[in-house]
Amino acid sequence: MEKDFKILFIVVILILSFSGAFIYFSTYYSNYSGFNNNYSANDGKIIIVASVLPQKEFIDRVGGDKVQTIIMVPPGADPHTYEPRASQLQQVSRAQMFVQVGSGIEFEMVYMDKIKSLNPSMSIINDSKGINFIPSTEKEEELSHEVHGSESDNHKINESESDPHVWVSPKNAQIMVENIYNGLVKIDPKNKEYYFINKENYLKELRQLDKNITNEVLDKKGEKILVYHPSWGYFCRDYGFTQIAIENEGKDPTPQGMANLIYQAKKENIKVIFVSPQYSTRSAEVIAEEIGAKIVFIDELSPNYVINMKKVADAFSDID
Ligand SMILES: [Zn+2]
Repeated sequence: MEKDFKILFIVVILILSFSGAFIYFSTYYSNYSGFNNNYSANDGKIIIVASVLPQKEFIDRVGGDKVQTIIMVPPGADPHTYEPRASQLQQVSRAQMFVQVGSGIEFEMVYMDKIKSLNPSMSIINDSKGINFIPSTEKEEELSHEVHGSESDNHKINESESDPHVWVSPKNAQIMVENIYNGLVKIDPKNKEYYFINKENYLKELRQLDKNITNEVLDKKGEKILVYHPSWGYFCRDYGFTQIAIENEGKDPTPQGMANLIYQAKKENIKVIFVSPQYSTRSAEVIAEEIGAKIVFIDELSPNYVINMKKVADAFSDID
């Protein structure tokens, strides 16, 4: 009798410790999974895939606890050159919706057909629908670098000649959020009211953000800013700056290009060079040394959109 009780006791302890370990490991792995390997159960949530990190806040704020957002281009990667892993493409096959930036970013230009073919029933939303594109700065940049001839003749011209970094403008972000909302309502109409309230609350924040930035950088209107990667075109359009890019067609400038940039930066009395964390700072450092400027990091791909854009505005208001 006593022996049976002992065995029962041991069995219970074993069951408890195994289930404990199971819970521990499954929690560990679902926390660990982060951006790329999220195979954990989706708890009935709508799985939405999008291309770049700033879209995550847009989607999460509208979708709230009804959605799970997976981003294809992970932190620190460059959407102009990124190639998705097989495990990421597998996730696409489980998604109900794909939110495309739709502004000619290379990641989508190269992979959109493949993504569609992996999941033909998935709803595809183009969140830049309705945005007025501005031309890519590469063209002006070439002129300012005075790089003509073979180098520019060889480069294959992008299907769309627009600047793809639409999200860096809080005005554009509001359009993107509206498009995401419309897309969500289409696939989940019964939660329309919930999405509407979320969307309106977030739009209020974005409008306030836009107002705050306008006021903050007012006295810097008309200034030129020197950036490594030309990702701030829409921000410059909205708040009255002009960006001069160091990088040319995704490559460091030629020695002649460097000399022109240094000449231009001295003429404009530029004191700050903006660099994104995704790119090398080597040529920016050379120029900074030459003109006595400091290097400041700003990130066009931060997942914390509103907080990050405040930081960007602070940086732009502090250029001299
Ligand atoms: Zn870029």
